[in-house]
Amino acid sequence: MAGIYLDHQASTPMHGIVLEAMLEAGYGNASSIEHSFGWAAAAKVERARQQVAAMIGSDPDEIFFTSGATEANNLAILGMRKERKRGKDRVLRSAIEHKSVLAACEALSEYGFSVDEVAVDREGKVSPDAIASMVTAQTALISIGIVNNEIGIIQDIVSIASKRSNVFLHCDAAQAPYATDLSGVATICDMLSLSAHKMGGPMGVGALYISRELQPLITPILFGGGQQQGIRPGTLPLSLCVGMGAACEIVASSGMEERARVAEIRDQFLVYLRQGGLDFELNGTKDHKLRHPGNANINIKGADAEQLLAMLQPEVAASTGSACTSGSLEPSHVLTAIGLSMEEAASSIRFSVGRTTTESDILNAAKAIVSAAARLA
Ligand code: PMP
Repeated sequence: MAGIYLDHQASTPMHGIVLEAMLEAGYGNASSIEHSFGWAAAAKVERARQQVAAMIGSDPDEIFFTSGATEANNLAILGMRKERKRGKDRVLRSAIEHKSVLAACEALSEYGFSVDEVAVDREGKVSPDAIASMVTAQTALISIGIVNNEIGIIQDIVSIASKRSNVFLHCDAAQAPYATDLSGVATICDMLSLSAHKMGGPMGVGALYISRELQPLITPILFGGGQQQGIRPGTLPLSLCVGMGAACEIVASSGMEERARVAEIRDQFLVYLRQGGLDFELNGTKDHKLRHPGNANINIKGADAEQLLAMLQPEVAASTGSACTSGSLEPSHVLTAIGLSMEEAASSIRFSVGRTTTESDILNAAKAIVSAAARLA
């Protein structure tokens, strides 16, 4: 494909091993309990469930396949709507959540819930103490993204979880597998959303971890056959589940080395931009340990980000804000929440490198960016 792909946080290229596993998945409906095709499909789905569970330290029967993290976030949040009957009618989320969390919380307000928003600091960090001070006896759910899709901040989810005073905690972990070690995370939260295409898996599948204790309290958002305990009915997409399982297994076994290599590439990319004379500032945290290894969200002094990205076509693929919000003229809610001015937000671009990014990719991309910015000035 033409161009240099620096948009890995929008979607990652699928891993070869994942594709192979999907091609071998075969066919049959995992709910067809009368014949061997159904049994084989069910066994493959079960293995995939185990692979997802192993990555986060849950049990396989706590994993519910969905169409992606958008659906997982909706199920987690709207799934709490009956909690109002128990006097729980508030939901607490951060100011920098993904649109699918913001919109699902908004939808929950139509069921009589109030939405509380915890602010973030200039790095995008959620303070565990702020969570503690905002939780009330009416709070049904706290929803915090582990890794932000725009500025890449990695939250201290262990400390946040320790301050939740028995309130259910949902974590949007769509961006987390390529950014941080998730082993054991299921023991500190009650629900967790994943998306296969952000971690070398296929598009169109994700998962929601729901702790066994919480499952009876969840109200489904889809209704149909009794698949997945009726919590998320619908025929399971066999090859997609197999692909997601394979992606989780790869991340769980090779994530650490991969993250270190990707961070090096990202840092070198920033060096090339500086050496080229580009006047920019990194948005969000300056502590690289707290940032998604592939994320380089920068504001380029005096540049119009949309125009610059257009000039870079078809050579370099990157985005302003998240792929889900770009196209809208509103400044990113994430960048404004961390204190950027409208002007700074409008000159910001998220470059995200990943597993397949090479040294020559970042060198050539940096040259193209420097030259385009010079033409714009
Ligand atoms: N949450 C976050 C943090 C994301 O980055 C994304 C993808 N942009 C989503 C949720 C939605 O994921 P999906 O594409 O699987 O619906």
